[in-house]
Amino acid sequence: MTVDARDDDPLIRRSYYEATVTRPADDPPLLGTIDADVCVIGAGFSGLSTALDLRAKGFSVVVVDAHEPGWGASGRNGGQALVGFANDHVVADQLGEDAKRAWRLSVDAVGLLRERIAKYSIDCDFVPGYLTVATRSKRVPELRAWMDMVEQRFDYPHLSWLDDAHERIDSERYLSGVYDSYSGHIHPLKYCLGLAAAARNAGVVIHSHSPVKRIVEGDKPVVETEQGAVHCRFLVIAGNASIGRVLPRVHDRIAPIGSFIVATERMEPELAASLIRDRVAVCDNNFFLDYFRVSNDDRLLFGGRATTAYMDPQAVSPVLRQRMLSVFPQLRDIKVEYAWGGYVDVTQNRAPDFGRLAPNIYYLQGFSGHGVALTGVAGRITAEAIAGQAGSFDLLARIQHRRIPGGELFRRPVLELGFMYHRVREALGV
Ligand SMILES: Cc1cc2nc3c(=O)[nH]c(=O)nc-3n(C[C@H](O)[C@H](O)[C@H](O)COP(=O)(O)OP(=O)(O)OC[C@H]3O[C@@H](n4cnc5c(N)ncnc54)[C@H](O)[C@@H]3O)c2cc1C
Repeated sequence: MTVDARDDDPLIRRSYYEATVTRPADDPPLLGTIDADVCVIGAGFSGLSTALDLRAKGFSVVVVDAHEPGWGASGRNGGQALVGFANDHVVADQLGEDAKRAWRLSVDAVGLLRERIAKYSIDCDFVPGYLTVATRSKRVPELRAWMDMVEQRFDYPHLSWLDDAHERIDSERYLSGVYDSYSGHIHPLKYCLGLAAAARNAGVVIHSHSPVKRIVEGDKPVVETEQGAVHCRFLVIAGNASIGRVLPRVHDRIAPIGSFIVATERMEPELAASLIRDRVAVCDNNFFLDYFRVSNDDRLLFGGRATTAYMDPQAVSPVLRQRMLSVFPQLRDIKVEYAWGGYVDVTQNRAPDFGRLAPNIYYLQGFSGHGVALTGVAGRITAEAIAGQAGSFDLLARIQHRRIPGGELFRRPVLELGFMYHRVREALGV
């Protein structure tokens, strides 16, 4: 059994995030056999959040990661910390009367992120505010309908409608928009390393560079790595998009979709401040969406360009730069300094996929581009479930998922066909 992603994976080359943090000394790899109440696989937001809350409840917790904290999507993403789900309609349809309770959890997720930043003094450049914008007239009523649903069905009070997105963004590309004053954005790797530090301080043991090779289920599950093993009472699998063949049973339900980000050189502060009012995060509502924000050191971080096949971020960089210039032509003389990418954990219906493989084995995955905040609450409700209060976990675990068709061999070509269909529709404006 091997892990899909590699240590030398060029998808992480030249990340602006890695260039702007100081990592602590490596956590040691797992050597030999140890016992813990709970073993968590994965030191991203999901795994670390689960570990922190379990430790606070008195459990002994060991986290093992194939690489190091924040190596996965948690250390590479767009940093947009959002309420809601990637597909609110699926949650509303499938959970019926209980959808409001589920949506409330997503609002709690942003609250939890804000609370943890304060509680653990995590310096991760949090900026409140998030703007969703429509690029085409057909998308305007869709955006309005989404806002109406969220306000009326979920009682979310922080949205305001902009007839003219230009009020908040210095770009001619957008028509209308929805402004959300409660969501926001962060430097995700700083946040993830902050969570890891808080977990260590609380007594969680983290083992880096310890890829899990095999999981033996049973009353006392065993997690085997190359050089060691953890015997535990409970296991939480938070390896997400890169868990790969170690767990085909759950991995088959997510498509790792490549997404890429470029960061410009530092701009003059006046130019940086003029692009987006109050420096809030921005995303459009297209199928192949662009997401961007201005960093606290006056760079534009611009992401998008979803792919099903592997691509070198350096090759994608000029394409993303062109997209960036179609939004902000005033940046034509500004250079791109960093380009990187990662795999987004996308389910077929774009709702998150939580569940149990056995009464004592939990998994969390498939946040579908909405994981920065939601992973926090996912960890919290998993810890609650292990401690005996499973109401919130079971609520979200009710969401039904399908396997991505095509199996290991044909999954990418099948996905590519779906992507082609959406590209053609977007090109035709339908
Ligand atoms: C480019 C990009 C942009 C994104 N932008 C946003 C955004 O703006 N807003 C948003 O909400 N979401 C965004 N996302 C999604 C978000 O980042 C993820 O949903 C979230 O980080 C998932 O966190 P996680 O802890 O579940 O998984 P990960 O962060 O991927 O962590 C999984 C960890 O498990 C480890 N692991 C995997 N397999 C094994 C194994 N066999 N043994 C041991 N360890 C293993 C990995 O090394 C990794 O560290 C984006 C994702 C990407 C890639």
